[in-house]
Amino acid sequence: MISDAVIEGTRQLSVFDQVAEMEHEQVVFCHDQSTGLKAIIAIHNTVLGPSMGGTRMWHYVTDNEAITDALRLSRGMTFKNAIAGLNIGGGKAVIIGDARKQKNEALMRRFGKFIESLGGRYVTAEDVNMTTRDMEYIRMETRHVAGMSEAMGGSGDPSPMTAYGVYIGMKAARKKVIGSDSLAGAKVLVQGAGNVGSNLVDYLVKDGAIVSVSDIFEEKLGPISSKYKVDIIPAEDIFEQDIDIYAPCALGATLNDDSIGKMKCSIVAGGANNQLLDETKHGNMLIDMGIVYAPDFLINGGGITNIYYDYIANYNKELVMKQVENIYETCLSVFDKSENENITPQEAAMAIAANRIAAIGNNKLSY
Ligand code: NAD
Repeated sequence: MISDAVIEGTRQLSVFDQVAEMEHEQVVFCHDQSTGLKAIIAIHNTVLGPSMGGTRMWHYVTDNEAITDALRLSRGMTFKNAIAGLNIGGGKAVIIGDARKQKNEALMRRFGKFIESLGGRYVTAEDVNMTTRDMEYIRMETRHVAGMSEAMGGSGDPSPMTAYGVYIGMKAARKKVIGSDSLAGAKVLVQGAGNVGSNLVDYLVKDGAIVSVSDIFEEKLGPISSKYKVDIIPAEDIFEQDIDIYAPCALGATLNDDSIGKMKCSIVAGGANNQLLDETKHGNMLIDMGIVYAPDFLINGGGITNIYYDYIANYNKELVMKQVENIYETCLSVFDKSENENITPQEAAMAIAANRIAAIGNNKLSY
């Protein structure tokens, strides 16, 4: 799930060095012989409230890869939750294993017991390879879980709300570039026709955008191309396209040395986490190319906002959508701050998040 370059960079560091460098509060290694559970729960920062972030199940090749993923993702949640205005800190969990072969009720419930043992310092939800059904198993052992199915009284899949936030953030970037936030006639390429990408396509088509879509799996493209008038682009050709907006909604690190130089768009705004391979270097390369970058952790915060309200209150979809719409003004502030202070939008957004945490907890995070 994480790039070789990142793993290589952390390979030399001990676990404690990594934890210290990334400023985590607590990292829990969970092991259970009978179910074969191997999991890591990383609590990055709880100044704003209990840590919250999804659980990812992945067939990590090495333990170090899993540790690095858990540490990076949980740190990212601290900044995402803070800039979204939520009263929660950042955390994330990874389960090491093949979700298709090793996932079962016993494993999930044992994992739920580990979450329970943290007494509410970490609240989980879905991430890659986890479903609302898995959340139901975890719920049997702990109440510190959100994202249950609608049938169980939960808010269901958070992806549509994530896509809504990405759409709002994209409109703000469009406003910055052309002075109007209309996406009518804008050529938008959505990379990844999964949960977020397919919901984003719906918003874009309804707004009159000219949409193209790319995915590595044909079966993901079929439903979209039969429902909407979209062009299908081979995955290897996406950076050759003459487009206005590139929307990464697949995996991270697609903004790198190889891709940025080829890009012909004026905006990057998508739902994928950790889009910049190197936050500073590639953030600056985008500026040099005249491309406006809407920070991923800011505009993909709709899903965690959905989960947060599901967890703390009586869930109301319309109110959550109103909250997610704040992404628009936050994006415009980020672009202004970036320009005025000669920093990248990513740095500007991280500064806003870190300042909120510092004001509440006298806790100065580095970024
Ligand atoms: P998903 O697994 O449903 O969809 C991802 C899609 O990307 C899949 O269809 C996959 O085949 C495709 N893909 C993978 N590599 C590709 C490539 N090289 N080119 C084109 N397509 C490729 O995942 P999702 O839930 O839609 O999440 C997408 C991204 O958004 C992830 O980075 C995730 O971490 C992030 N994100 C998701 C949410 C959420 O609410 N689901 C919230 C915040 C961030």
